[in-house]
Amino acid sequence: MSDADEWNWIAAQAREHLQRLATHGVARLPIADLVVADVAPATAAPAAATAAAPAATSVSGSPGVRDGRELQVIRDDLGNCTRCKLHPTRKNIVFGVGNPAADLVFVGEAPGANEDAQGEPFVGDAGQLLTRMIAAMGWAREDVYIANILKCRPPGNRNPEPDEIEQCEPFLIRQLAALKPRVIVALGKFAAQCLLRKPDTPISALRGRFHEYQGIRVMPTYHPAYLLRTPSAKRMVWDDLQLVMAELERLGVKAPRQPGA
Ligand code: URA
Repeated sequence: MSDADEWNWIAAQAREHLQRLATHGVARLPIADLVVADVAPATAAPAAATAAAPAATSVSGSPGVRDGRELQVIRDDLGNCTRCKLHPTRKNIVFGVGNPAADLVFVGEAPGANEDAQGEPFVGDAGQLLTRMIAAMGWAREDVYIANILKCRPPGNRNPEPDEIEQCEPFLIRQLAALKPRVIVALGKFAAQCLLRKPDTPISALRGRFHEYQGIRVMPTYHPAYLLRTPSAKRMVWDDLQLVMAELERLGVKAPRQPGA
């Protein structure tokens, strides 16, 4: 089954199941039940998924309206950035995209060639997969916010280097403080290690359970680019995303769309 087919299949299963329940008079189903009973693979949800989560109270920044003005100030401060050695080779700064009031934020590693060309994160093949993953969760790109640790493309898509992260990360930290999401999905080892300050812990050991960043729940999972190379890991990512769906539900955040719509 192709990658697109598989995600569409997962979403179709979820939709069909809900429609079947609706014909029996069930108008609403807690996501956690849906996950465990019908859509999830055979693996049990990790215990951490059900642990009590503190409210997102320790995020810095003003408690004001999340209307995008703070994000614009941060973008203006970033300017035509020359702070690190990536600026001579980049075509565009890739700041971030999406809903300034997003409750769900995805953080990746760094722009690739397509993102560099278009100035928008996750628009290449991995980005299209991410868009389908978001849709399978009952959200759309415009409902969430998507950003990266680095805002400029490393030449040849090499790994981010520590001096580049050091210069760029403060802007992501400010973005997250302005966004005040309830849940962050860290895509891949760089995003997870960086946000969680665990530079030596492999993504395989971080994923599958919630961590905390400034009082915000963080779910590390495999990067969509890794899934394109390793389709067998999609199940694990879907497990992780289902934990995110359940956690959002628990926090009182409703998915705005039908899964897969
Ligand atoms: N990979 C990332 O980590 N971010 C992008 O924006 C694109 C690909």
